[in-house]
Amino acid sequence: MVKAIYPGSFDPCTLGHLDIIKRSSALFDEVIVGVLNNSKKNPLFTVSERVNMIKELTKDMPNIKVMSFDGLLVDFAREVDVHVIIRGLRAITDFEYELQIAQSNKAQHSEIETVFLTTDIHYSYLSSTIVREFASYGGDISSFVPKEIIPLVEEKYRNINVKGDKDGQ
Ligand code: ADP
Repeated sequence: MVKAIYPGSFDPCTLGHLDIIKRSSALFDEVIVGVLNNSKKNPLFTVSERVNMIKELTKDMPNIKVMSFDGLLVDFAREVDVHVIIRGLRAITDFEYELQIAQSNKAQHSEIETVFLTTDIHYSYLSSTIVREFASYGGDISSFVPKEIIPLVEEKYRNINVKGDKDGQ
């Protein structure tokens, strides 16, 4: 039985992330989507909101488990006894960083293998940052995120804008 972890911030989960989740679920017996609770970043969605959104999106995929984690990915991998890490590669700009991280993880935990899945060509430009940028200006994000996620993102920015208006008064 080969298990894998697909780690990330997923703030929010995009169609690119979902594509990697679906393809991983066909390759591995079990895939743990690891949602990083990064205290240094100021995320749009709380970690439990991100976990719940991915649980909802993967509810019909029985071999997908969604968990949050803090700290180092290698420590989380040890904790759940998983030796395979999945990462998505979009462009050459991802490569340098991903290679460095993969090699650092290997140096820390020699049994870890990182598997890279190349992005679907339709999503090669797509990132959570792009989604947040467009949504913050009221842009159309329907080609960026699963349909279930659209109202959640829109509501976040409605609240932020209302708060901003109040604070600006
Ligand atoms: P991180 O902050 O760890 O990079 P992200 O949530 O941005 O977390 O991304 C998680 C993983 O998903 C990374 O491996 C990233 O390269 C991959 N990824 C992000 N967007 C896409 C996409 N559009 N297509 C394929 N992989 C993607």
